[in-house]
This record gives sequence, C-alpha cells and structure tokens, in this order.
Amino acid sequence: MFDLTLSEEQEALRKTAREFAREKIAPVAGHFDEEGEFPTQIFRQAWELGLMNAEVPEQYGGLGLSCLSHCLLMEEIAWACAGVNTSMAANMLGAMPIIIAGSDDQKQRYLSWLIREPIFASYCCSEPEAGSDVAGMRTHYVKDGDSYVLTGQKRWITNGGHASFYTVLATSDAKPEKDLKARNRKIACFIVDRDLPGVKVGKEENKMGHRASNTVDVLFDEVRLPKAAILGQEGEGFKIAMKTFDRSRPWIAAGASGIIARALHECRAYALQRKTFGVPIANHQAVQFMLADMAVALEASRSLCHKAAWMVDQGKLDSVVSSMAKLYSADMAMKVATDAVQIFGGYGYTKEYPVEKLMRDAKLMQIYEGTSQIQRMVIARNILSSEG
Ligand SMILES: Cc1cc2nc3c(=O)[nH]c(=O)nc-3n(C[C@H](O)[C@H](O)[C@H](O)COP(=O)(O)OP(=O)(O)OC[C@H]3O[C@@H](n4cnc5c(N)ncnc54)[C@H](O)[C@@H]3O)c2cc1C
Repeated sequence: MFDLTLSEEQEALRKTAREFAREKIAPVAGHFDEEGEFPTQIFRQAWELGLMNAEVPEQYGGLGLSCLSHCLLMEEIAWACAGVNTSMAANMLGAMPIIIAGSDDQKQRYLSWLIREPIFASYCCSEPEAGSDVAGMRTHYVKDGDSYVLTGQKRWITNGGHASFYTVLATSDAKPEKDLKARNRKIACFIVDRDLPGVKVGKEENKMGHRASNTVDVLFDEVRLPKAAILGQEGEGFKIAMKTFDRSRPWIAAGASGIIARALHECRAYALQRKTFGVPIANHQAVQFMLADMAVALEASRSLCHKAAWMVDQGKLDSVVSSMAKLYSADMAMKVATDAVQIFGGYGYTKEYPVEKLMRDAKLMQIYEGTSQIQRMVIARNILSSEG
C-alpha cells in the first residue's frame, strides 16, 4: 500500500542534503547564476557526500538509493539552486540507460567509474530539429564490420561540456520514414566515450535560468564505436529512452517541488516583515490566499512526486503517473514562482531577492524531460484508450 511515511534513513538523507544545500549551495547560488559558471567545487563536495549518482546500485559502488529517496535529496538541492540540481540529475540521467539496459560489463565500467571519480555523464537524446518528436532524430549509425559508425548533432545536452561519457540515441535510418512506429524501431542507444576521435563539444547555450548547469551541443563526426558500446539490441533505443523518461520524470517533479518550497519560504518571511498601509502585507487577505495556494501546490506536487517515485520503486512503474507528477509540479512551480515575484512587488523584479531566479528556473521545468504539452498528450492518450 502507498504510504507517505519516510524511514529513518530517508529522514537522515534529507537532513544531510538539506544542510549541504543550505550551507554550501544557497549562499553562492546567486553568483553562479549571475556568472553562468559551472560550480565544479560544489559538485565535487556533493560527490564526496554521495549525493551525486545516488541511484547507482550498491554492487557498482553506489548508494543504490530508491527513486523516492533520490527525489527527497533532489528537492533539497533544488531548494537552494535548481541549476545545480539539474546538473546533478543529468549525471544520473546519463547513467540511467546503462542501469536499464546495460550488460554487467558496461555497468562495471561506467557506473563504477561514476563512483570512483567525480566525473560527469550526459544523456543525448534531443537534437536541433528533434526535441518532442524523439523519433525524428537525424543522428544515425551504420554498422561497419565489428564497429558502429555514429554521425550527428545533439542539442541541449546538460553537462555535455564536462562529461566523460555520453549515452546517445541514434537511428539506423538517416532519412527517417513517415510511419512513427517504424521510426521508433530503428533507434539504438550507445555509450560514447568523450575522448573518442570525432566527438566534439559545440556551442554553449546562454540560458534564462539554471545557469549553473552546462548546456551544449555535442557533435559526432563518424565516431567509430566498438560493438560493446551498444546498450541492449539494435531497435531497442526508443524503448530505453521511454523507460528512462519514466524513471526521470519524478526527479523533475522533485526539483519543481524544491522551487515551490523555496518560494513559499521566502514569501512567508517577506510577507511578515514588509509593511503597507501600516500593517505587514501578510495581514492582507489577497497575500494570504497566494501563500495558501503555494502551500497546497507544495503538498500536492510532493505527493504526486512521491507516488510516482514509489511506483518506480515497487516495480509498478507507470508512465501516466510519472507524467502527471512532472506536469503538475512543473506548472505549479511556474505559477508559484510568478506569484512569489508578485508578493515581493517591485523588489521581486530585482536580483536583490532570490524570487526572480525562482521564476526563471521554474520555466525550464515545463520544457525539459518532455514539455507540459507532451505530458498532457501522454495522459490524454491513456484516458482515451482506457475503458473509462
Ligand atoms: C536547459 C535545457 C537542458 C536540457 N537538457 C537535455 C539533456 O540533457 N538531454 C537531452 O536529450 N535533452 C535535453 N533538453 C532538451 C529538452 O528535452 C527539449 O528542449 C524538449 O524536449 C522540447 O523539445 P524542443 O526544444 O525541440 O521543442 P519542440 O519539440 O520544437 O516544441 C516546441 C513547442 O511545441 C510544442 N509541441 C511539440 N509537439 C507537440 C504536439 N505534438 N502537440 C502539442 N504541442 C507540441 C511543445 O510543447 C513546445 O511548446 C534540455 C533542454 C533545455 C532547454
């Protein structure tokens, strides 16, 4: 039965993550945001504490955290800086296809590497012309004897400029046909080492938010891969990508919940001290209602996130619940962050207070890991195909 009670271990993990986030990340988040700088030192400290790569199974040296425990951790990190959380999550995202479909050799080599050294990994699915339409990808591979030769361009790759390896989706059909199912069946997933000839890092994005995370193009120019680089079989890539999204969407819900929690925290404090018409603005019912809506949004986003993560952990992974959690929490984070700026009035519109950053950071939650429109499509498709 679904039970929201956290274990002692989970409470302890949350405490460690909260202390780290509030002491080490929150005080410098503004600086890394302003400069668009990748906080290598913070990631190193997080890695030393075991807060990175947290779902890597114990047999490969990791903590083997459940999805739910990982979500608890991520909410705390995102409370302090959603950009730092994005980069930490992207490492796990790069590793997830290996957890889902890797052989023991691949797991030993790549998952253990993440634990042994503070390296970065990236997940390369999106392209300049293919984001929502995953199967419209142009990055392609050809078989050549005992190798695969990979060519193409990936876009929006988080951690891409720092990664030591990439998990890359590619099609065997350079000019994809119209039939969607046929296109899906041509996709394969590969592990690509950064130092292979032909792997290049392209332009870095100058982003609205999550500016502490690194987002770049990654290019593959006839990169020769050994046969052992494929995850699962040819034709299984699309399935691996969808399973990865099912596992990662609760993480986005956790990050969005962190933004909501931070907004509520900042707004409560501000509303109690800022005075208009001789009383704190917290005395005005219009402000109280915004605070109340924020508290409801936090409770509901967290609950859906924990439900989706719990289902992953029970082996009852449900794409629709994962999509609901991602959609709801992302839309709520955007609404709550916008209201937070409103509560701060003119000061909310300046960099003097952290709420304008929350608003910029919240927007991405509705875009990456499948936009809010794509989540609604997943949910609607399920409603219409079920018996009601
Ligand atoms: C900062 C950042 C980090 C990212 N990190 C990664 C990463 O590490 N790895 C990775 O692979 N990708 C990453 N992404 C890519 C991200 O997942 C895509 O941007 C996202 O899936 C949307 O794709 P797109 O940008 O091509 O938009 P498009 O697919 O072009 O969509 C444009 C608009 O049209 C809407 N739309 C599209 N199709 C439909 C439809 N059928 N019905 C209704 N509306 C539709 C969308 O919802 C959106 O509003 C990242 C993106 C950003 C911005």
